[in-house]
Amino acid sequence: MAVVGGDEPGLGRVGKWPLWRRPALSVWFVLVVDLGAAAVAIIEFTRSGAADAGIAAAILAAALVQGEASRRIERMRRVKSGSVRINMISMWVFAAVLTLPLSWVAALTVLVSLHDAVRGSQRSFVHRKVMNAAAMVLAAWTARLMLDAGGLSVLTQATRLSAVQIVVVAAAALVFFAVDGVLIAVSLVVDGGDDRTLVHLVGTADDNAMELATICIGAVAGLVLVYEPLALAFLFVPLFVLHRGVLVPQFRELATKDQKTGLLNAGSWREVALKELAAADHAGVLMVDLDHFKRVNDTYGHLSGDEVLKAVADTVRRSVRDYDAVGRFGGEEFVVVLPGLRDGDVLAIAERIRRAVSDLRVPLAGGATLSTLSASIGVAVYPGVATGLDELVHAADTALYRAKRAGRNRVVSALAVCDTRTG
Ligand code: GH3
Ligand code: MG
Ligand code: MG
Repeated sequence: MAVVGGDEPGLGRVGKWPLWRRPALSVWFVLVVDLGAAAVAIIEFTRSGAADAGIAAAILAAALVQGEASRRIERMRRVKSGSVRINMISMWVFAAVLTLPLSWVAALTVLVSLHDAVRGSQRSFVHRKVMNAAAMVLAAWTARLMLDAGGLSVLTQATRLSAVQIVVVAAAALVFFAVDGVLIAVSLVVDGGDDRTLVHLVGTADDNAMELATICIGAVAGLVLVYEPLALAFLFVPLFVLHRGVLVPQFRELATKDQKTGLLNAGSWREVALKELAAADHAGVLMVDLDHFKRVNDTYGHLSGDEVLKAVADTVRRSVRDYDAVGRFGGEEFVVVLPGLRDGDVLAIAERIRRAVSDLRVPLAGGATLSTLSASIGVAVYPGVATGLDELVHAADTALYRAKRAGRNRVVSALAVCDTRTG
């Protein structure tokens, strides 16, 4: 389930609810979703027939056990992503959509969400947690409408699914996925805030694949519950492994990327550069250091300094080819490996980077714009200067210091074939 998170919990007196401090459109949206879900639950309650209490109890028990088992995974996920997250509630809710009347589905959704709110690691506003549960009830309702339209009522042991009805279940799963996702995304759009990138609104491709996989397992869980309830135990291990697998891309990114700039970190840059050198006839290594960067921090503060670092990192990235590895070597130093290029081309790219940094205009918090950036760049080429990566980096670093001593804002080659200053 993609859910909206937040930083501050809150309940207290109704008049002081944090909900009332949200933009008016957001308040309206939350109320419409919450009341809509409540209306669906009440209407369905008045007209629902008998339910299989055994199935309801099994879903509730399985959801609680699984929620407890995945607490540690969710805590680890939060290291990186705090706003949109994955949990397994949608799996159990979709299993319930197939096997129980909608009023029971709503009740189960509330209970499982309540457990998640109390025991989960996500601290967030109460109104958001309620809205997440309400969105899921509405998603369940639309999925049930889809099933009804396909002639598939609540599954019983007597039900035999035709191929067409399997397609109807798949369509209901997609409707469930889409309605929940859209409601959450819209709630974020109307809530405003600075961070409204597509990924923030709808989650990453991995998040969505995981969500869809979860709902598919929910469909299987529903069938298992009806025909062989004890076989549900077989779903737990793959479910746990699937959930844990969500952490892999996240940890890979943490392990290889510099979190401030999004470039490769020093260790992973080294690994990529070693591979590139091993495969290339010619290559260049650049060491880029911003000039007088300490002054930027001293004048505008370290947070603005970080913004500038990010802008410079993007500029360096854009100045080279897609497959040239750019890393953050440390502080305000960047390294680039340019495979397949000879001296002249390597110097030309270094000069392009130097110019791009001098031309950079970085808007800063408070309205100021920084336009006085420059960088010094040391260049070493393979195999002319050295054949080992460490020697090349060292040579580029030595050339960089020559560039600094010569007055900064320039490119210096370790071959000493070039010492330019055009800025
Ligand atoms: P120059 O290289 O031209 O000799 O002068 P400089 O002022 O850039 O000197 P140096 O490269 O030695 O100093 C780097 C400065 O970069 C020191 C530190 O304040 C700043 N710095 C390093 N890492 C970060 C960071 O992650 N964020 C911010 N805001 N500043 C950083
Ligand atoms: Mg510097
Ligand atoms: Mg430095």
